[in-house]
Amino acid sequence: MKIGVLGLQGAVREHLWALEKCGVETIVAKKSEDLADLAGLVIPGGESTTVGKLLVRFGLLEPIKERVRQGMGIFGTCTGMILLAKEIRGSDQPRLGLMDLTIERNAFGPQVESFEMELPVPVLGEEPYHAIFIRAPYAVAAGPGAEVLAELNGKIVLARQGKLLGAAFHPELTDDLRIHKLFLSMLAEKTGV
Ligand code: GLN
Repeated sequence: MKIGVLGLQGAVREHLWALEKCGVETIVAKKSEDLADLAGLVIPGGESTTVGKLLVRFGLLEPIKERVRQGMGIFGTCTGMILLAKEIRGSDQPRLGLMDLTIERNAFGPQVESFEMELPVPVLGEEPYHAIFIRAPYAVAAGPGAEVLAELNGKIVLARQGKLLGAAFHPELTDDLRIHKLFLSMLAEKTGV
């Protein structure tokens, strides 16, 4: 199985490392040709307005959506989760708009730049997940297509929809591979989006 990490901005290397630990082949995806044979694409954290503009400028927005229609999965962390959402409150920034989520950006408030906590994620088992949030968004609402996998104070911080997985935090910054493995297991399923 080959997984691409979108290489426009953000924590690309850390995702490559985590994926390689999971035993899959990886590439850094920068152009539409790179998407051709990917089972999944990871969209790392960064600045979602910048990454959205770069997706448009490099002609990647439509090709990514087309590959999703053909069965490619996407794992979006932080900025990646924002770009996956259909609704971004107060913003018309470019996005993929594939998940039934309404996102609030920088949602924990500017005074809370980053924090770490033990997040219960029932789908991963009893052991909580050490979640690192950096100027993080959350989703305030999930439509019928999206399944909420973790919440923090009633706000959605991990959700899936078919082969799409969005995390408000940064699993690539820990040694715990369970969320990358969850994404890889989703790709093996037959469900469409
Ligand atoms: N605050 C950023 C945004 O709105 C996301 C931060 C991140 O990806 N760590 O795009």
